[in-house]
Amino acid sequence: MSSKHKPSTIAVRTGIESDTQHHAVVPPIYLSTNYGFPSFGDVPTYDYTRSGNPNRNLLETALFELESGKGAVVTNCGTSALNLWVSTFLGPDDLIVAPHDCYGGTYRLFNTRSLKGDFKVEFVDQSDDTAFSQALAKKPKLILLETPSNPLVRVVDIAKVCEQAKAIGALVAVDNTFLTPIFQKPLELGADFVIHSTTKFINGHSDVIGGVVITKDEQHADELSWWGNCIGATGTPFDSYMTLRGIRTLGPRMRAHEESSQQILEYLKAQSRVKTIYHPSLPQHPGHDIAKRQQTGFGSMLSFEFDGSMDELKVFVSGLTLFSLAESLGGVESLICHPATMTHRAMGEEALAEAGISHFLLRLSVGLEDAGDLIADLEQAFSLLEVQQ
Ligand SMILES: *Cc1c(COP(=O)(O)O)cnc(C)c1O
Repeated sequence: MSSKHKPSTIAVRTGIESDTQHHAVVPPIYLSTNYGFPSFGDVPTYDYTRSGNPNRNLLETALFELESGKGAVVTNCGTSALNLWVSTFLGPDDLIVAPHDCYGGTYRLFNTRSLKGDFKVEFVDQSDDTAFSQALAKKPKLILLETPSNPLVRVVDIAKVCEQAKAIGALVAVDNTFLTPIFQKPLELGADFVIHSTTKFINGHSDVIGGVVITKDEQHADELSWWGNCIGATGTPFDSYMTLRGIRTLGPRMRAHEESSQQILEYLKAQSRVKTIYHPSLPQHPGHDIAKRQQTGFGSMLSFEFDGSMDELKVFVSGLTLFSLAESLGGVESLICHPATMTHRAMGEEALAEAGISHFLLRLSVGLEDAGDLIADLEQAFSLLEVQQ
């Protein structure tokens, strides 16, 4: 495949008919941890699976071609992808600027490692121009963007940030977990790296934990690959095989997720128990115009403020039968999450308040069940509240 092909073609065809031994159409899985040296002193392409494996390599190729990059390192989870990225490029005196409402685990990782003196971190509201300029004045080496952000789906102007970053020699990574390359291509907007938790939409079936760092610079790819092997961050052959299998349907899945989420948004807009809805497709969303410019789809992650008491919120959430109360997102099954007690609980009250994550915020990951069934399920859970009154 090559980057002249459309994403769905890359997703489906990468590695197909690559088996030279038996001409298997689907690439075989290589579980062996080690590979023979053809002769004394003759180093093979693969020698040991931590440093290289054919299945991981194919997955890396699919991912960097989908993102219009030049190289990638597939890791054992999204968190280890973020950890690999900071381990490769930051020293004790270097600063990273990260979003104040980033993924909870990212916040915990950067905060804890900075307290150990590994590097410095500043969490800022990246949609606040003044706060962001002040952070840039401190000459960060790395900038992480998460757009749309989790769980409030705030949108940051990638091209604008990359331009500002370039002026001070900073490198920018975009956590593209929420949109995938089907809806957003950060490297084409000027970013230096794309990071994914492939656990989410990329694999899409909630049965593999994985991550990736993608780059458009071959030297960065070599450095990431060296560090991935050094700290043991690389993904396993089986997980790589499964994730590539998930990627085959990435395009149609992303479009179906989005279509259903639009129907659910329409339904939620008319509900008395729903206060503010957060989704970039809504014209009143502060990031709507930027999203329209830099994304090719609005994505399917949404959140809303529940209008009622905490007891009523619990009745509503517990009454749902087609939305599982669970963390994670981007799988075929629909999920509901209460960020304050689930994904974002590690942040603590003060950081939650600063990030605007209230105790009445609920996040939906709209799955691939029938949209009418999902709406009927929301309807019956809301109706439980009327009975109570
Ligand atoms: C889940 C997630 C991560 C962390 O990935 P893991 O695979 O759980 O380690 C990072 N960023 C975002 C946006 C996520 O949703």
